[in-house]
Amino acid sequence: MSTAQYGIIGWPLGHSKSPLLHNWGLTACGLPGSYAAWPTEPKKLKAFVAEVRARRIKGVSVTIPHKVAVIPLLDAITDRARAVGAVNTLFWQGAALMGDNTDVAGIAAPLTPHLDRLSPALVLGAGGAARAACAALRGLGVSDLCVSARTHAKAQQLATDFQARAVDWESRAKQPWALVVNATPLGMQGRDLALSPWPEDAEGAMALAFDLVYNPVRTRFLEQAETAGAQLVSGLSMFLHQGLAQFEIWTGKRLDEQRARQLLLADMLMTGG
Ligand code: NAP
Repeated sequence: MSTAQYGIIGWPLGHSKSPLLHNWGLTACGLPGSYAAWPTEPKKLKAFVAEVRARRIKGVSVTIPHKVAVIPLLDAITDRARAVGAVNTLFWQGAALMGDNTDVAGIAAPLTPHLDRLSPALVLGAGGAARAACAALRGLGVSDLCVSARTHAKAQQLATDFQARAVDWESRAKQPWALVVNATPLGMQGRDLALSPWPEDAEGAMALAFDLVYNPVRTRFLEQAETAGAQLVSGLSMFLHQGLAQFEIWTGKRLDEQRARQLLLADMLMTGG
C-alpha cells in the first residue's frame, strides 16, 4: 500500500504552518504519510485537482485564492461548505472527491466558552473569513449579528446572506459590542502590521475581541482591545481548530489541543511571529 499523502495548496503560499501541524500530528498518531506545501497558481488548479484524483491524494488543505474556484472541480461539497460558499478541505468519501469547510469550526470552537456573551456581535470585513465568521456566529445562536466593511455593498450582501445587519464602516466603533471579530488582513505581518480595523478614538467598547489574523499572535487590534479591558481570542486559536478538524476528517483522530497549540506557539516564537 502506498503511503498516504496530504498537503496544502494556495498562491502565494508563504510560510504556512499547516505542514508543521499535520506532520507533527501524523507522527504523534503513528500514522504513515506526509503533508507537503504545494504552491499552485490559479491557472494550474484544474490540473492539480486531476492529480489529486489520479494519485488518490488523501487530504488537501485549500487556501487563498482557491477556496471558491475549487468547488466546481469537486464531486460534491458538504452542507457546511455550502453555507459559507467556500471550501478549505478536500477529502474522499468512497469514490467521491469532497469539499468541506473547517474554518467555521475554527472560529466557533474558541468562542464556545463565551456562548452567553456573544451578542451583539460585529464582524469587520466581508471576504471569505468574514463569511465563515458569520456562519459560525449564526451556528452559535448569536441573535444580533452585524457586519461592517469598507466596501459597504459587500457588507450589505454578506448581511443579507446571513440575516444580519450592515453597519457603516464609519459607525463601527460608535456603540458597545459584546464581540468584535477582525476578518480583515489589517495587523498581519508585512505592510499591514501596524494597522488595525479598530479606530484609535473608538467611542464604543467591546467585551471580547477575536482577531482572525494569526501572524503575529499579538496584533495591534488585540493590543487596543486589551488596553480597553476586553478579553482576547487570537487567530492562532482559529488556525489551530480548523487544522485539528481537518486532521480528524482525514484520519479519524483527534489531536491533543494543548500540545498542538504549544507546537505552533513555539514555532511562532522561533520565526518571530
Ligand atoms: P479577503 O477575502 O481578501 O477579505 C478581506 C476583507 O478585508 C475584505 O472585506 C476587504 O475589503 C477587507 N480589507 C482589506 N484591506 C482593508 C483595509 N485596508 N481596510 C479595511 N478593510 C480592508 O480575505 P479573507 O480570506 O477573508 O481573510 C481575511 C484575513 O483573515 C486574512 O488576512 C487572514 O489574516 C485571516 N484568516 C485567518 C485564518 C486563520 O486560520 N486564523 C484563516 C483564514 C483567514 P475589500 O473587499 O473592500 O477589499
